[in-house]
Amino acid sequence: MPHQRHLVVFSGAGLSADSGIATFRGADGLWENHSIDEVCNYDTWERNRESVHRFYNARRAALAEVQPNPMHRLLANWQTRFRTTLITQNIDDLLERAGARDVLHVHGVLSEMRCLACGSVWDIGPKAWDPSEERCPTCGSRDRVKPNVVFFNEPAPLYKPMSEILGALGRDDVLVVIGTDGAVVPIGQIAERLPCRKVLNNLEPVAPENFVPGMVMPRQFDRTLFKPAAKVVGELDEIVTGWMAAWSGSGL
Ligand SMILES: [Zn+2]
Repeated sequence: MPHQRHLVVFSGAGLSADSGIATFRGADGLWENHSIDEVCNYDTWERNRESVHRFYNARRAALAEVQPNPMHRLLANWQTRFRTTLITQNIDDLLERAGARDVLHVHGVLSEMRCLACGSVWDIGPKAWDPSEERCPTCGSRDRVKPNVVFFNEPAPLYKPMSEILGALGRDDVLVVIGTDGAVVPIGQIAERLPCRKVLNNLEPVAPENFVPGMVMPRQFDRTLFKPAAKVVGELDEIVTGWMAAWSGSGL
């Protein structure tokens, strides 16, 4: 059996930034005078239930106002042309709305709720969740329902399949990293160890004074594109299409 090249795309906030989704990292990191840590922290969220749900209700409402950008559409298009796996840290559904399927959302999904009492997960779409009224449809819990989004200090069960997918990349495969500096998932360190072809697209290189181990560095990649994601669609498509079509001669 000939090896079928595998294209894996790992994306972060920079992918959706061009659609107008706020990231809340950097700058002052505040939301309505709450620290982001207060509304996204697994250890304290039940004390701050009301603000947590108000924050995520606002995020869900904001999502209804934005559209996929050309890079979301390119990634969805790759799935029709290549054996492609899309892994994202983004909790929005812009890849799906661009036509992508089976996206591995390692930090959860904004439109889903999860009940910590019984483990149920369900989709509420763009709607607000009223934490004083609404309940888990399976067990009736009211206070233990949280957005199905991975908070600070919360385990991320999808890191395991993510690591397996990335770890299986061989020298004929391709890794595309878009819109993440590697501060949360250390994709720079991961990429460095992989034998595949690798391309990075970020707005700009990580400033030396902000660098911590795990982050992305140009030398970990064969190609780097430092521009907004939506502005490098043609160039990135050309690089990836060339790599996916190239015959390495291995196996002869
Ligand atoms: Zn429940």
